[in-house]
Amino acid sequence: MSRWESLLTVQGHDTHVDQLKHRLASLPGRAGLARNAEALAALGERIAAVESRRTDLSRSQQRLEDEVASLTEKAAQADKRLYSGSVSNPRELQALQDDITSIKRRISQIEDDELEIMELTEPVEAEWAELDGERATLTAEGDRLRAELAEAESSIAAELASVQAERDAAAAEVPDELWSEYDKLRVARGGVAIARLVGPTCQGCHLSLPAAEVDRIRHLPADEPVHCEECGRLLVHG
Ligand SMILES: [Zn+2]
Repeated sequence: MSRWESLLTVQGHDTHVDQLKHRLASLPGRAGLARNAEALAALGERIAAVESRRTDLSRSQQRLEDEVASLTEKAAQADKRLYSGSVSNPRELQALQDDITSIKRRISQIEDDELEIMELTEPVEAEWAELDGERATLTAEGDRLRAELAEAESSIAAELASVQAERDAAAAEVPDELWSEYDKLRVARGGVAIARLVGPTCQGCHLSLPAAEVDRIRHLPADEPVHCEECGRLLVHG
């Protein structure tokens, strides 16, 4: 095996490593997961707005309930006084009676307001439940995407480790003096530094070399360095 053949074997593994790294970086699950996170964030804002409306309504409701409780207590005290026998002045008794009537009217008005708030609360609760359901669906989808992504990542990582080990074993067979040009050409030529000449065609750029050039190369010893005159890559020949 010529020294170029051993370098071509390394090139094959390096290309495979590059492909796996690219696959790892561009796993479709990652974009899906980002979209899922965006959708969840947008939904979170809608839920927060509904929850703030719900809190406002519940505070109003509480305020009305507190007012009813305090008015009921006030009416009970007036009632107690009315029937305690301690008030005998008819005018005062009438005033107490009027007080009680007015308090009860006020309570009845507040209870109407409470009903109104309950009616307003109903659609808000329904909307919240619907959004909460959407959130559960999106969260489950996110969990599924994360698990799929992790599985894909670990499977590619395992393949990478095994290809990398094969690459390192093959690299041990390559003479030291070949590396600097290989590394430079890899950077300059999109990762492919060396290719086989098949018939007249360079497998690096897929262009055909002139017949005279192919003929010249054919007569060189296999260990002689040859570059494709089209793309500048090293050519494995012979
Ligand atoms: Zn070429």
